[in-house]
Amino acid sequence: MLELRQISKAYRGGNGSPLTVLCDVDLQVEAGTFVSISGPSGSGKSTLLLIAGSLLRPDVGQVLLDGQNLTAMAGDQQAGERAKSIGFVFQRFHLLPYLTVRENIVAATVAHARSEHGAESRADELMQRLDIAHRAGHVPGRLSVGEMQRTALARALYNRPKVILADEPMGNLDPDNAELALQCFSEFAAAGGAVLMVTHSPEGAARTDVTWWLRDGKLAQS
Ligand code: ADP
Ligand code: MG
Repeated sequence: MLELRQISKAYRGGNGSPLTVLCDVDLQVEAGTFVSISGPSGSGKSTLLLIAGSLLRPDVGQVLLDGQNLTAMAGDQQAGERAKSIGFVFQRFHLLPYLTVRENIVAATVAHARSEHGAESRADELMQRLDIAHRAGHVPGRLSVGEMQRTALARALYNRPKVILADEPMGNLDPDNAELALQCFSEFAAAGGAVLMVTHSPEGAARTDVTWWLRDGKLAQS
């Protein structure tokens, strides 16, 4: 489903010398599997996830989604594929502050001009399931952290993506909300989706089908 081939990435370090973050990384996330990548802070987990979602270009290597080479596409074509096939759950949620919960959930689709019949009921169904229906009209500034997280989960699931990419989705969450996030991802994978989660939480990683460890720019089976 999602494949990273020989990905390398370096940033420019403070003194101008390159800081190599990923070095020849290969990874496959099959449909129906929940994969995690663990590693200490600064090991390159977020960089890898951004590259997997084609939000950041690798220096070397390719990202393939359903056999299509995302890396070879022009930016707008990449954006189209992303909107259609990938749901993101970012570490700091990145909800739009001036939109309500409901509007945040459907925003990605509206922006992509794919507003479809049944959009409202899909949002309602997700809000019910994630227990935020009573907050549908609130803006993020009036939500608890757990409610923000659940809105971000609903947004990621809304478009029925093929792949979910999640960056530290349990960070800062209480145990109940962390459990809910894990359950959501497990269900999504059980229904045939692919999930790639990066986390420094050993408890979260222990719940996934495949666990990788990122260290010194390389992936190792942990
Ligand atoms: P993690 O998510 O595992 O904490 P990151 O992928 O965020 O790691 O960062 C890996 C390394 O790359 C860190 O040393 C970080 O400081 C550095 N880094 C991340 N983004 C940039 C950037 N845009 N420019 C320069 N260095 C960066
Ligand atoms: Mg990170």
